[in-house]
Amino acid sequence: MCGIVAYIGNKPATPLLVEGLKRLEYRGYDSAGLAVVTPNGIQVHKSLGRVSVLEDKIAQQTDIQDAAVGIAHTRWATHGEPSESNAHPHVGKTRQGHSLALVHNGIIENYASLRTYLEGKGHTFTSQTDTEVLTKLIAELYETDLESAVQQALREVTGAYAIAVICDIEPNTMVCARKGSPLIVGIAERSYIVASDASAIVSHTTQAITLDDYQVVRLCAGKRDKFTEEQGPWAIEFRTTTVDNVPVTREVTELEMNLQQIELGDYPHFMLKEIMEQPESIRNCLRGRIDHREGRVVLGGLNEITRDLVRAKRFLFTGQGTAYHAGLIGEYLMEDLAKVPARCEYASEFRYRNPIIEDGTVMVAVSQSGETADTLAALTEASERGAMTLGAVNSVGSTISRITDAGVYLHVGPEIGVASTKAFVGQVAVLTLLSLFIGKRKYLSNDAVAEYLKQFEQVPDYIQRVLEQSDHIKTCVERVVDRDNWLFLGRGYNYPVAIEGALKLKEISYIHAEGMPAAEMKHGPIALIDEGMPVVFLATQGTQYQKVMSNIQEVRSRGGRIIAVATEGDEQIKQYADAVFTIPPMPDALQPLVSVVPLQLLAYHAAVLRGHDVDKPRNLAKSVTVE
Ligand code: GLU
Repeated sequence: MCGIVAYIGNKPATPLLVEGLKRLEYRGYDSAGLAVVTPNGIQVHKSLGRVSVLEDKIAQQTDIQDAAVGIAHTRWATHGEPSESNAHPHVGKTRQGHSLALVHNGIIENYASLRTYLEGKGHTFTSQTDTEVLTKLIAELYETDLESAVQQALREVTGAYAIAVICDIEPNTMVCARKGSPLIVGIAERSYIVASDASAIVSHTTQAITLDDYQVVRLCAGKRDKFTEEQGPWAIEFRTTTVDNVPVTREVTELEMNLQQIELGDYPHFMLKEIMEQPESIRNCLRGRIDHREGRVVLGGLNEITRDLVRAKRFLFTGQGTAYHAGLIGEYLMEDLAKVPARCEYASEFRYRNPIIEDGTVMVAVSQSGETADTLAALTEASERGAMTLGAVNSVGSTISRITDAGVYLHVGPEIGVASTKAFVGQVAVLTLLSLFIGKRKYLSNDAVAEYLKQFEQVPDYIQRVLEQSDHIKTCVERVVDRDNWLFLGRGYNYPVAIEGALKLKEISYIHAEGMPAAEMKHGPIALIDEGMPVVFLATQGTQYQKVMSNIQEVRSRGGRIIAVATEGDEQIKQYADAVFTIPPMPDALQPLVSVVPLQLLAYHAAVLRGHDVDKPRNLAKSVTVE
């Protein structure tokens, strides 16, 4: 959620910052701003709304175009409404009269008391944000160098932050830090480009360092006279420390992302691109993980703890939003395939309900970004109470992947669309692999595992067969897209798929949709059904097919319009449904990987038909890094 991009080097910073902000736009935001160091001091420009508004606003500002140091931000308001004055960067004046500017992702929890303290010291505030308080605290503590002022200030704050700070008196320096919110420092030739997300960096470099919590980095770049002789005509250097000023070593690593993955190509929207890419992304997710000869699942990240996993007494899946729905499928999978008791719980609820963790509990945290604040907090809680922790995340090197005992990456490539699609299928794929990995070592026969794996490998082709129905899905959606209330119903493995389908529709088309177990409808929601209300049924062939068919009759007899996801070759369903989308026949346990795809396309087409900007759904952010 929200974004930071900052630059220090030998190129003009302003265009680079604007380009970076555009790459971060997908994450969701309400305002944007930037600050650069010029010979006339720090210049700040902000605007409400899109980055393009900011871009137009600064186009005529000749004095900022050549600046070599700058910070920029897209804000997703937490403290104070979206407005120009609340937008970042925020500025502060040191007691010596120098100016500094700061951008921040996260929340400073003790901002109120700090603000009172700083007002007592004579600082005045122009925004309602917690961020301005941190800015002024650094200004207040500034003596002779920015790095030390930032370190001192961060020792005083509680909450979460990724920050980048510049100061007019130190024009060759930028100081960045993080706790609980991601920040990456890209190292390019003669420059650094810092961002909260690799997508703003990879067009410049794939060499980067990531910071851990409570770490600070000081970046310097400038002409030789600022450095030593042997560093050449232009030099860059960095130093990493903790907030307590203890030096730490950070390794330079290669970012796992390429430009093509984050560019639209010929697609109108990232969401459609990512839906259409799923055969490929799931192939990537499965690559090297299915060993046919041995008939087993290979998960390198779990090698060290395999014995503990096999002996686990209980699995606890956790996540938020779409990841929670994937976790719910994990619960069904683990009990069905590995016969180990499993539950899935919202991370936000788990964390605050004083949970009981029995011996032998394994928590599996599911998250696309690996930075979801609620999920991180739940992991910490579970770990402190003795659980072993696993991560199922997409972003390599993200916080969840670092703080868990072990994990399995999704490897579906960066997901830019705010409404998750390929990451969801990747999460379900990983949880299916995990359940088979454990099931094989417990109750599943070798033949059963081999059969699952054979079918599993077909899943990319099965998804392709659904994608070919995109135009048909669009035509069907056209007939009902004006309806404001929808139901999504499914049973067993397809119940989480139903709630995921409803969430997709809500997120991007703003149509009110509810998903629930099909049987639950009779216990109340059936009262909603009137003439023409769209009801989407997951009615695939499997153990619960007949029961779902009965539910379809109940809706039909009350005038509801049936949209069914059914199995290829099912002739019966055509008599009862107004529209049918099909998936190939496959075992129940593998169906969610494919049955969700028509629902993704349905939501996509509904949103486009309603005229919404699919990649920038209102009020939403890509990764929710605040609780
Ligand atoms: N809490 C800060 C604000 O409301 C930062 C929000 C963000 O992460 O964009 O301005």
